[in-house]
Amino acid sequence: MARDRRYDVLFEPVKIGPVTARNRFYQVPHCSGMGRQFPTSSAVMRGIKAEGGWAVISTEQCDFHPTGDVRTQIRLWDEKDIPTHARMTELVHRHGSLAAVELCHPGHHSASFYARETPIAPSPIPVRAPFPGQARAMDRQDIADFRKWHRRAAVLAQQAGFDIVYVYAGHAITLLMFFLSRQYNQRSDEYGGSLENRARLFRECIEDAHDAVGESCAVAVRLAVDELLGENGMTAGAEGRELVEMLAELPDLWDVNISAWENDSATSRFAPEGFQEQYIDFVKSVTTKPVVGVGRFTSPDSMVSQIKRGVLDFIGAARPSIADPFLPKKIEEGHLDDIRECIGCNICAAYNNASVPLRCTQNPTQGEEWRKGWHPERIAAKNTDDSVLIVGAGPAGLEAARALGQRGYQVLLAEAKTEIGGRVIRESRLPGLSAWSRVLDYRATQLRQMANVKIYPGSPMSISDVLETDCSLVAIATGASWARDGVGRTLHQAVPGAGSSNIYTPDDIMADVEFEGPVAIYDDDHYYMGSVIAEMLRHKGLDVTLITPSSVVSEFSTYTLEQEHVQAKLLTLGVRIVPQQNLVAVSADGVDLACVYTGKPRHVEAASIVLVTSRIPNDELYHALLRDEAVIKQSGIDKVTRIGDCYAPSIIADAVYAGHKYARDLGAEAPEEVPFKRELIELTPDY
Ligand code: ADP
Ligand code: SF4
Repeated sequence: MARDRRYDVLFEPVKIGPVTARNRFYQVPHCSGMGRQFPTSSAVMRGIKAEGGWAVISTEQCDFHPTGDVRTQIRLWDEKDIPTHARMTELVHRHGSLAAVELCHPGHHSASFYARETPIAPSPIPVRAPFPGQARAMDRQDIADFRKWHRRAAVLAQQAGFDIVYVYAGHAITLLMFFLSRQYNQRSDEYGGSLENRARLFRECIEDAHDAVGESCAVAVRLAVDELLGENGMTAGAEGRELVEMLAELPDLWDVNISAWENDSATSRFAPEGFQEQYIDFVKSVTTKPVVGVGRFTSPDSMVSQIKRGVLDFIGAARPSIADPFLPKKIEEGHLDDIRECIGCNICAAYNNASVPLRCTQNPTQGEEWRKGWHPERIAAKNTDDSVLIVGAGPAGLEAARALGQRGYQVLLAEAKTEIGGRVIRESRLPGLSAWSRVLDYRATQLRQMANVKIYPGSPMSISDVLETDCSLVAIATGASWARDGVGRTLHQAVPGAGSSNIYTPDDIMADVEFEGPVAIYDDDHYYMGSVIAEMLRHKGLDVTLITPSSVVSEFSTYTLEQEHVQAKLLTLGVRIVPQQNLVAVSADGVDLACVYTGKPRHVEAASIVLVTSRIPNDELYHALLRDEAVIKQSGIDKVTRIGDCYAPSIIADAVYAGHKYARDLGAEAPEEVPFKRELIELTPDY
């Protein structure tokens, strides 16, 4: 298919200092959770993005001295670290893209856990909460040493094959940003006080990098032009702008954003596509150097608008490149319908924050590129004569049908409801979650193009329906239902009063069941559901109390970078928050609670109680089918398998992954005991 000429501008080459990017798609630095532990996994993952058309592929933060050791990220301390990076740059170059490295010293944000060096900072300050210990203030010799380390890292990066070297002052996690900050920099020498003084080290590092590698490598800066802290921080209207004006022509590229990370990587629940424009739109007016910015861009029209209106020269992306490593190619080749749009859920960030390889709700191959050999676009053609009945068109069933269809299998997808989508349809109607419907949109569009996949909405499948379909394989993807008895992470038996008629579950809320306030929500799920229900009920004008055994609302949202936004929103809406309480009993007039630490009793009055605790697999059909193996065999069914929430309820990303895995595993050799390749540690001979 030919590309729409309107998008031609996105495919113009752009010069960055001594190097040239082949188009305007720029994968900005992003964590991978792979770090120094899994260099091959990381290199292959980045190489696939180059194959998918991104002109620049950046690493995550790369620390360059033991005083700034971040154990879970990559490092470039000396020559011994070069080979791990050379693998990534080689794979990126193979597809004609440029490789960028984000050199980073985290200052007091690192507690130097592994290296056990004393952390350094512009001024004496405690290390990142909640860890004990403080960083020491750098003296002049330390500053000279820091410049030496930074310069040496740029040279090592050049030797590893990088084309772009970053000088990084973003996200409130880098020493250079702490020097820039009035809050953290209390120095009285030439590196403190005025903005010019606070910017001195930043300027020196840019000049050093130019001097050391500038002939062949571009020197990029990454700067948070607004910290969203008002007068207490950098703002686009004041020092952010002054700084860009001051250094305007010094770097070869400006990569600008807002900080901290939770603001830069805001979820779709809290920020729309292009949300950073208001902060960074001045940058191009004060520099002639190319500018890259982010904003969860997935629409080619918004991208073109950014370029045509002179906001950006490069479309920066982290999450959209994770959800669809082939996004540029799809635009280039006119396959817009095939774009797998990021839903802005931050599951990718969450698992990086849990120190494991990142995963993605939309892209089940993310993190599996090398270890399982899963390519985001290619999949083996079918190698058996099976035909597959999938019961349930939620995320698991949809992805299984899509991937099996892509392989060429005959597939029947039966859904009880008149609409396909399962939980995604219901949940995307909750406040702030509308972008989650993209999980369905992408798959529905793909399935419509597959003649070998037949979809039957409005088809509740009974045992006899299943037996009559003539398929050799059956996948049961019938989802899960919210528990009504309070059993969850803290309560392991039904709560006294569980039969009370004033108890509701998220399923009731999503089915628009009417009920009276005041409402008490007991959240023992700890992710988004409790808080979005609280929000929704407040919007309906009900009095809402959210009770949780945790110390904070939606505790898992700390991992998705949303927790503070969630709690602030609920407080602003007037939701009463009652933390650190276990559920003891439910009655007609409310809930009895006990302090999680002391057991001290407490009562919260409520006419209606919403229990957000755990989910129960809808596996009756599966068990009923298995009950009579002989009948199944007689009807020609070789195997019945449960997938997704019907097997084990979890997040949407896990259901999509389960559906994808089912499709990949069909006809594949049974895995060895460890079902993927591992990056093993090479034992040192001296011990
Ligand atoms: P998952 O996250 O595992 O994909 P969902 O709960 O989102 O699970 O989706 C399960 C889907 O299965 C729902 O749309 C539900 O209506 C459908 N379903 C449940 N039981 C049957 C059945 N017996 N026949 C057809 N569809 C069913
Ligand atoms: Fe986007 Fe969610 Fe995938 Fe992250 S996990 S890339 S936010 S869809």
